[in-house]
Amino acid sequence: MSDPSEPDEPVTLQGVGVGRGMVVGPVAKAYPSPVIPAGGGGDPERLEAAFRQVAQGLQARADTATGALADVLAATAMMASDPSLLDEATKRVAAGETPAHAVDRAVGQFVEMFTAAGGVLAERVTDLRSVRDRVVSVLLDLPEPGVPPLQRPSVVVASDLSPADTAALDVSKVLAIVIGHGGPTGHTAIIAGQLGIPCVVRATGAMRLEDGEEVAVDAAAGTVVTHPGPELRARAQARAEAAAVLTTDTAPGATADGHAVTLLANIGTVADAERAAAGAVEGVGLFRTEVLFLERASAPTEDEQAEVYAEVLRSFGGRKVVVRTLDAGADKPMAFATQPDEENPALGVRGYRLVRRVPELLRTQLAALARAAKDTGIAPWVMAPMIATAQEAADFAALAREAGLGDECRVGVMVEVPAAALRAQDVLAHVDFVSIGTNDLAQYTMATDRLRGTLVDLLDPFQPAVLELVAATARAGRGVDRPVGVCGESAADPLMAVVLTGLGVTSLSMSLGAVPAVRHVLRRHTLAQCEEAARAALAASSADEARAAVRALVDPEVVETLAL
Ligand code: PEP
Ligand code: MG
Repeated sequence: MSDPSEPDEPVTLQGVGVGRGMVVGPVAKAYPSPVIPAGGGGDPERLEAAFRQVAQGLQARADTATGALADVLAATAMMASDPSLLDEATKRVAAGETPAHAVDRAVGQFVEMFTAAGGVLAERVTDLRSVRDRVVSVLLDLPEPGVPPLQRPSVVVASDLSPADTAALDVSKVLAIVIGHGGPTGHTAIIAGQLGIPCVVRATGAMRLEDGEEVAVDAAAGTVVTHPGPELRARAQARAEAAAVLTTDTAPGATADGHAVTLLANIGTVADAERAAAGAVEGVGLFRTEVLFLERASAPTEDEQAEVYAEVLRSFGGRKVVVRTLDAGADKPMAFATQPDEENPALGVRGYRLVRRVPELLRTQLAALARAAKDTGIAPWVMAPMIATAQEAADFAALAREAGLGDECRVGVMVEVPAAALRAQDVLAHVDFVSIGTNDLAQYTMATDRLRGTLVDLLDPFQPAVLELVAATARAGRGVDRPVGVCGESAADPLMAVVLTGLGVTSLSMSLGAVPAVRHVLRRHTLAQCEEAARAALAASSADEARAAVRALVDPEVVETLAL
């Protein structure tokens, strides 16, 4: 960030951290889609060359990329060299439109056609828009939008990243992600967490960082510091070494006095499953199956699903795997499941509620899971998202059993709606276990959109009202001696992990990279100390007070090691 008066003075940007890592590295900036100015729009002579430049650039990236990323880039390059797009834009320029507007409208016309055609064509709309953004940027002399190809390990800085941008990252070269917008439970944060990449969201001023300048990113503190001096570099190095030491403890999760707390991973794909299975976790506490359904025009078939579920179950060779049924809608829109006319999709037909409109989606998924169980001889756990009433829990359990998931499979539901937490005892009368989704539980308790980072303080899982609901759910579980897990992002926070254990939560599921710190903090405190921390958190009258009260009770050495 340039400050002409003090060129080498460090500047600290404060955001919200995701993960605990600290790194130092050069900035690689990702730019947003171009905005076409009302009065201008590029040089008509450059129209054809702009398309050619974009096609060549994408093809060059495709040639050096691998796997799905290479396919996406090659397909987009082909689209940029398709003459019908250029022809349409040329005609529009001839009719008097500026080149940038002509490209924008020509692409718009194709987007409409592709969307109406549905199927595979509709799935190409994202690529079309990407061509539009790139060609318009060339015409307007703006930087290429999206994440640039990374030549060296870098800190990716963006105003925001789309799920497609994040998926296209070459993660082997991403040291950290810093975004100016988003929230700590949004898709960028969750994906970064899953990949173990330190991330800072809502970093005000992020886009003023300069390409190539060195910054220190501290996810634990939520800070980005420019011109890092020797002290910060040494701290980053020490933190990396301490983190490496923590990974040598691979014993099952437990408190200092041996009270077991199952530590599990959150996964979304077969690749995640393979990574997690190789790590020191006791299984999976949340398999977000919707990742299989995303970006598809129609749902995957029973055969396709059965194969994926079997692969995941086999990866864990009998360790616990909790499969969550489709959680479409709201922040996870899907063409075949989302109701287009909902004004408040987060309060609409999402998660388990889809059974009202498209029951075959859930039936097919449960049948596929039953088939995977039979084929592998491994009994999965299965749970439904967004359960609000005991009746829904009972109906889901009945559907799972009907689909052929026998007594050896545990059937449960997620507690992420306050109604389910308040009546957890009734819900638990119908299912074998519950898992608390604190991301949505905070959203619905605090009436705060989890995608709107501006209200991030209200989404804090340390909010007394949210803690109260978690405590009520854990109490209900203890009353009937059934497992109560937590699989929201809060399980990854070591201070919160102490509180949750003290409240009686029996398992914590998180991104793989968060496990060592949580294992460490639990190992260093007895159950009685965790209970004391839980009481202190519940007694606090604000989220900040609750966090401070817990921090004051945690072993200072652990506070230091984990930078809590
Ligand atoms: C949650 O809501 O806490 C949760 C784990 O589910 P998701 O983040 O997928 O909505
Ligand atoms: Mg949820």
